[in-house]
Parts: sequence; C-alpha cells; structure tokens
Amino acid sequence: MLIGLCGGICSGKHAIAEYLIQHQGFQLLELENRSFHRIADEPEDDRRLQASGFTNNERSQSSNLSFENADSLLDFATKRWQGLWVTTDIWEDATLDRFLQRPFFLLVSVDAPVSLRWERFAERCRRRKLEPPPLEKFVLWNDRHLYDKNIGRVYLTDRAQVRLFNSSSSFEELHAALATLNLADEDRLRPNWDQYFMQLASLAAQRSNCMKRRVGCVLVRERRVISTGYNGTPRHLRNCNEGGCPRCNRGEGGGVGLSTCLCLHAEENALLEAGRERIREGAILYCDTVLRF
Ligand SMILES: [Zn+2]
Ligand SMILES: [Zn+2]
Repeated sequence: MLIGLCGGICSGKHAIAEYLIQHQGFQLLELENRSFHRIADEPEDDRRLQASGFTNNERSQSSNLSFENADSLLDFATKRWQGLWVTTDIWEDATLDRFLQRPFFLLVSVDAPVSLRWERFAERCRRRKLEPPPLEKFVLWNDRHLYDKNIGRVYLTDRAQVRLFNSSSSFEELHAALATLNLADEDRLRPNWDQYFMQLASLAAQRSNCMKRRVGCVLVRERRVISTGYNGTPRHLRNCNEGGCPRCNRGEGGGVGLSTCLCLHAEENALLEAGRERIREGAILYCDTVLRF
C-alpha cells in the first residue's frame, strides 16, 4: 500500500506521515531533489530554514529511501506493493495520474483553516528563532501554493480518495483521530461488492428526472448487474423535470397527493427492466433511497 499525502502549507501532512511511520509501520519515500519544487512551493522563510540545514519538519531520521524522480519512486513501490509506504512528494497532475492508476495507491488530502495553519507556521518559526510572517503574507503564499495555474496544489487535493480536515491543536489529538480513522485499512483501496453496487445505484440516481428527489437502484444476481433504474415518469411520457408529472411540479410537501403522482420508483423501473425471467432466488436489490423518520 502506498499513501500519498497532499495539502496546504502546515495542514499537517508531514505530521500524518510521521504518525504512519511511527505507529503503523509505514516507511517514507522521498524525492531527492525537493528544492526544485520547493522554490515555487514554500514560503521564503521556510526555504531559508532549509538552506540553513533545518529540515521542513521533524522527519523520521531512519528514512533513506529517496528517488531521482516520481516514476522511480512509483516503480519501487509497485515492486513492493505489499509493503507500507507513504510519500508527501507528489507535485504534479501528470504524476498523480500515474499514481492513481495503481490499485495499491491511496491519495489523502489534508486541510485546515488558514488562520490555524498560520499559527502553526508562526510557531515553527519561533521554535527556530525566526520572525513569523504576518498573516497577510502567509495568506498570499498560501493562495499561490494552492491556486497558482502551474503549481496549484488544489488541483491535486481535489482528486483525493480520502479528505481529512485537521483542525487539531495538538499531536495527541491528531494521533487519536488517526488511530480511529486507520488510513492503512485496505478496504479504502477498493470498494467491496456492496459498496460497489451502492455506488452504481447512486450513479443511476444521477439520471433521475423526478422533481421531488433522486433515487437510483441496481438489481444484482450472483454479483452481476441484471438491471438498473431511477425514478421519474414512465417511458414515452414527458420527463417529470420537464413538467411531465403535475403533482411533483406543484412542489407540495412530501406525501401530498401521492396517488396522483405519475412518477415510477427507481425500484419499480429496475424490476420492470429486468423482467420476471431474470429475477430469481438470490437476486439482491440495491437502492440508495434515504428513509427519514
Ligand atoms: Zn416526479
Ligand atoms: Zn410525480
């Protein structure tokens, strides 16, 4: 398993990597030439810290797995996919594309309020006897780091499979949250059958044309989809969202005038589509409707 961590300045990605290394047996994979990326990435003070021999964070001293480029890092992890690896060195969209193709890779984004990240950064400066930057300056760095057309990290974080919001004020708090979360859980890499079919049901729901709600359904037998359905007016009638069902279009409260509704349920549509022949014992119906009491 390879976990890639991305996020804003002082969002906590290195702290999370460190947790995975110390508590869950992960090893850090790094790029050799980080300075190239850092020039555009890190606030000036941080670069000065680097130049003066400080590392970006209190990193694990045991790590010596560094690579010339992202491809060789990925090759290394691919050959050792059963190991536990973590990296914070994914910088570009094209690189991320290649990483995301691997079934053992999980992208985790970390975010925190900018005021809190500034406080963390200021604290880091003070520890190193440097003048902390004013909030305004930090915000400008942060904007460039996240939204710059060429180096903007937000385009990476947007594709994360797991999104963390790290507003914790101490390492203890962060560690407790990470212990509960268990990022190393292999189930995160690939949906199980139930999750897979429920996701298909939610995808079907996107095709709903009913004005009242979106519902999707998938009928499955022996782990094979036999039909899908979503709610809306019957075939050959005008779609509900184009005025096809007068009752739904009146926008009255739930349950009002139900008997005059022309829309079919997602489950009805899936059953009709499959037909009696194909629905046999052991068939399972997945439906993403939410019951509210
Ligand atoms: Zn409707
Ligand atoms: Zn209706």
